[in-house]
Amino acid sequence: MRQLPGVLVVEDEPAIAELIAVNLRHNGFRPTWAMDGASAQRELDAVLPDVILLDWMLPGESGLSLAKRWRADARTKAVPIIMLTARGDETDRVAGLDAGADDYIVKPFSTKELLARVRAVLRRRAPEQAGGVVKVGALSLDSSTYRVSYNEQLLKLGPTEFKLLHYLMQNAERVHSRSRLLDKVWGDHVFIEERTVDVHVKRLREALGVNAGAMIETVRGAGYRLTAHTAHTAHTAQPVPSTVVIPAPAVVIPDSIRDPVPRQPWIADRSPQ
Ligand code: CA
Repeated sequence: MRQLPGVLVVEDEPAIAELIAVNLRHNGFRPTWAMDGASAQRELDAVLPDVILLDWMLPGESGLSLAKRWRADARTKAVPIIMLTARGDETDRVAGLDAGADDYIVKPFSTKELLARVRAVLRRRAPEQAGGVVKVGALSLDSSTYRVSYNEQLLKLGPTEFKLLHYLMQNAERVHSRSRLLDKVWGDHVFIEERTVDVHVKRLREALGVNAGAMIETVRGAGYRLTAHTAHTAHTAQPVPSTVVIPAPAVVIPDSIRDPVPRQPWIADRSPQ
């Protein structure tokens, strides 16, 4: 089941954060509150939200600097950021957008406007999931008809293999770590070992057959890459080792068991009933 979209609210003023969180909650979002950059970073390390609402003026590192940093980080760079700012003049707006923010909202703002902006960035980031044909070399995938073919020959793939291939084809020639693939293909809220990725890559290669399967390369110590530039021979594909050394534990840990250190509670849980 698809979870409600998560929104990380980075805001040092509790009254504003609470107002935002209550409204997000009542409109089908799942807000989390962080008071500053350091606690926001901890949230991001644990679970990636669908959107970040980022206040400009924060104690410690500024929202502007955080936006720049998160944009440069491979893990967070695709997460839409909306800057919340009391600064309305044009140079500041431009600075916010230059830092990598997708949009900005000038305080004071109406909650209606806030919700509209959040929905808009989610829609803009969603075309990846929209229908269409992706082609890499002789491999073709149509996400509206769920068809995959290689040299015009239809191939049969399971649903997870299809999603995995879709993501790899949309981001071809780039190396993807196992944890990134877990985030992108399985979603960020599942408790799955990184080994699972290896199992599905193996199945995907088998389903693709010798030549198309060879397009998925194992990049030792880094992850996987789909490439059009492969010699069309089976021996160029690295076999998946039966035992895999996993360098770091997956950071996808469900809320219920993570967090030995105290953190900001769900904001709405603090509101009087
Ligand atoms: Ca502030």
